[in-house]
Amino acid sequence: MSQLNKLELDIRLGVEATVETVLDEHPDVVVIATGSIPKTTPFPGEYGPPEAVTTVQVLTDEVETGDKVLLIDQDGHHQATGTAELLADRGKQVHMITAALFVGSALGPLQDLYLTRNRLAQKGVTFTPDIAVLEIQGTLVKGLNVYSNEMIDFDGYDTLVLAAGNIAEDSMYFELKGKVNEIYRVGDCVAPRKTDMAIIEGHRVGRLL
Ligand SMILES: Cc1cc2nc3c(=O)[nH]c(=O)nc-3n(C[C@H](O)[C@H](O)[C@H](O)COP(=O)(O)OP(=O)(O)OC[C@H]3O[C@@H](n4cnc5c(N)ncnc54)[C@H](O)[C@@H]3O)c2cc1C
Repeated sequence: MSQLNKLELDIRLGVEATVETVLDEHPDVVVIATGSIPKTTPFPGEYGPPEAVTTVQVLTDEVETGDKVLLIDQDGHHQATGTAELLADRGKQVHMITAALFVGSALGPLQDLYLTRNRLAQKGVTFTPDIAVLEIQGTLVKGLNVYSNEMIDFDGYDTLVLAAGNIAEDSMYFELKGKVNEIYRVGDCVAPRKTDMAIIEGHRVGRLL
């Protein structure tokens, strides 16, 4: 923030931009970086808060989970493992299921797989890999072992936490497109990915302008 302040930019924090407030500024160029939001119903079935919640709802303390938590990991990254760790630190009993070969499957290239799994194990987090979620009803998760084709129910949990992908928050971009001279979008509002892509795309647009 201090570096940005040195540039004497007009930075307005805590303000929700709308199409109207953007147009009122009569900008030459608009860059949209509105991010993405977690999918709340990525699987078939009837479920939702407070029993079935997203990682972000947990991390922002929007909801409090029960003691027994099933975390559905389609992320393979820190979104899932970090949330599991936080819940374990709060004394929750956490079990993770993933369709991948192992929990944290995307952490290898970051050299963070060993340390993450080490901490999860020490905190008592348990795992079932190879499970594709077919359906959720309330807190009952109907899973399928992707190798044996065996159907497995995961039941008896107080809370389900979903790390099951995000949706681009691109409404502002499409509403403004055609109404302003020049418009770009960067980061997760293009497609939900990781921080590196938000940085590189922001950098590229900055240099272009
Ligand atoms: C729990 C979690 C863990 C993650 N862990 C990692 C990780 O370890 N490594 C990694 O590389 N990536 C990680 N990611 C992904 C990473 O956070 C995103 O890829 C990255 O933040 C995208 O940056 P962004 O600037 O495009 O969007 P965001 O960081 O989502 O920022 C968008 C901002 O725009 C604001 N906004 C939206 N609409 C408006 C509006 N109308 N007016 C004003 N403000 C608005 C939002 O409030 C938000 O602050 C994680 C994501 C999650 C959810």
